[in-house]
Amino acid sequence: MNDPSLRPPLNVDTSSNTTTRVKAAIVILVRNSELNDLRFTMHQLEDRWNKKFHYPYVFLNDVEFTDEFKELTTGITESETSYGLVPTEMWSYPSWINQTKADENRERMEKDNIIYGGSLPYRHMCRFNSGFFFRHPLLDEYDWYWRVEPSVEFSCNLDYDPFLFMQKNNLTYGFTISLFEFNNTIPTLWQTVKSFMRENKELVNPKNVMNFITDGTEDYNLCHFWSNFEIGNLNFWRSERYIKFFEYLDQQGGFFYERWGDAPVHSIALAMFLEKSEIHFFNDIAYRHNPYQHCPEDKDRYHYSGLCHCDPNENFDEDITKAENHNNPGESSTQSKKPRPNII
Ligand code: GDP
Ligand code: MN
Repeated sequence: MNDPSLRPPLNVDTSSNTTTRVKAAIVILVRNSELNDLRFTMHQLEDRWNKKFHYPYVFLNDVEFTDEFKELTTGITESETSYGLVPTEMWSYPSWINQTKADENRERMEKDNIIYGGSLPYRHMCRFNSGFFFRHPLLDEYDWYWRVEPSVEFSCNLDYDPFLFMQKNNLTYGFTISLFEFNNTIPTLWQTVKSFMRENKELVNPKNVMNFITDGTEDYNLCHFWSNFEIGNLNFWRSERYIKFFEYLDQQGGFFYERWGDAPVHSIALAMFLEKSEIHFFNDIAYRHNPYQHCPEDKDRYHYSGLCHCDPNENFDEDITKAENHNNPGESSTQSKKPRPNII
């Protein structure tokens, strides 16, 4: 996965450049009740990186933020902060959804112990992250985003501007962790993707990286970028081809009848529409979202130098056992037995 020979040469001449700015924001969808988990995360992000770069924060919520939330988060950073309400149409059932069927399916998925299977807010969240966050009016002025969630940890100093780095190297999307999706949350997603591709052949990138998520078969291997961390170009999601893809999926109702996550939706779109050189693995961003972490393994460069505080022996990158257990623990699944695809 981290074989440098697989990567194109990248222009890393962005270190210590703290004056050139790109149009970028840190984007955080969060509940008022997660204020303290978010303060924990923001402090690390500021200390490790943003106190040098001063990128603005955009906080989004399906209900109004409290004054306490606004005051305490604004107090952590010297950067600009803005607080937005998610418009109802981005966080509700579209007209064509049969709500009785959606209710019944949630009940069944709850009984089957499918993770978040019984939750309607979780589904609105996944649909919002799949199809709408990049169209929120507070993001109109930006081209780039870094998605952050409450409770995540950043445990190495980052001394360069990842947005500028991406812009200079013609990158579109950056990730730190990839793993397998739970099969039972997306039973009909792949067949929907395949029919979209049949009907929209001209939209598929001839140099696509679909092979990474199919291993050359007809099936989805369930691999996806863990989307609680994303650094990316908003204009990719705003593009006509992606909107068409999202709307096609949305029409099928799988965000509600099943529990399609934004991570597989994003990953499949990236694999279909981009080429390999546009996707970047941020090895130097140490990141934890429980229960997994990415921690760079090069001890001289990252650990003896004092840059990091994570344990390099606890690194998810090549940990196939953990990736397998993540999917359907205790059950045998032919798909989870496959080795992880060699992405970037
Ligand atoms: P998980 O990472 O899949 O376990 O899901 P999370 O509970 O972490 O949710 C993903 C992100 O969406 C986090 O940033 C949450 O704060 C946010 N989120 C999830 N549900 C809601 C919700 O109902 N309202 C708001 N405002 N944010 C939510
Ligand atoms: Mn989370």
